[in-house]
Amino acid sequence: MSVELPALPYLPGSLLPHLSATTVELHHGRHHRAYVDAVNAAIAGTEWEEATLDDIVRQTQGALFDAAAQAWNHGFYWQCLRPRGGGEPQGRLGELVKRQFGDAQRLREEFNRAALGLFGSGWAWLVQHPGGQLGIQVTRNGGTPLTGDSTPLLCCDLWEHAYYTDYQNERARYLDGFWQLANWEFAESQLR
Ligand code: FE
Repeated sequence: MSVELPALPYLPGSLLPHLSATTVELHHGRHHRAYVDAVNAAIAGTEWEEATLDDIVRQTQGALFDAAAQAWNHGFYWQCLRPRGGGEPQGRLGELVKRQFGDAQRLREEFNRAALGLFGSGWAWLVQHPGGQLGIQVTRNGGTPLTGDSTPLLCCDLWEHAYYTDYQNERARYLDGFWQLANWEFAESQLR
């Protein structure tokens, strides 16, 4: 068994004008694929060959963890975006956001503050803690909430390859675009 590159859940050009087809194609077809390929190269002929990607992320360290976590994070990231996304979280997630942050705008501000505060590459996450309450996390490099106690609901890739072609080094403008694409329905589906 090997780890597979998940297909994009939409066409690469369908996230315009917030992310270009070129960015999405290269990000998925080169960067994400390279992490998947690196995992498969590393697990071939080892005890991890039959393991799921989740288990590899949870149970390994070093170069295999880095590649596996990046492969997992990217698979999650693509689901966090959708054409004509954005708007406000509804339903149970909307209620939790109201309780935790006051409103979605405050959530976005707190998320952006954390994302802009991360020096270098990594990820910003909306998570649900074991007690049920929501929180914001940032992880460095390939770090992922999967190795902790909290459940990831939504993430934003903060590596420059995610946005440099479209926004150069302007992470704040990329974050504005991200919120126009946010897939709140997916985030709600991840609640415990
Ligand atoms: Fe990326």
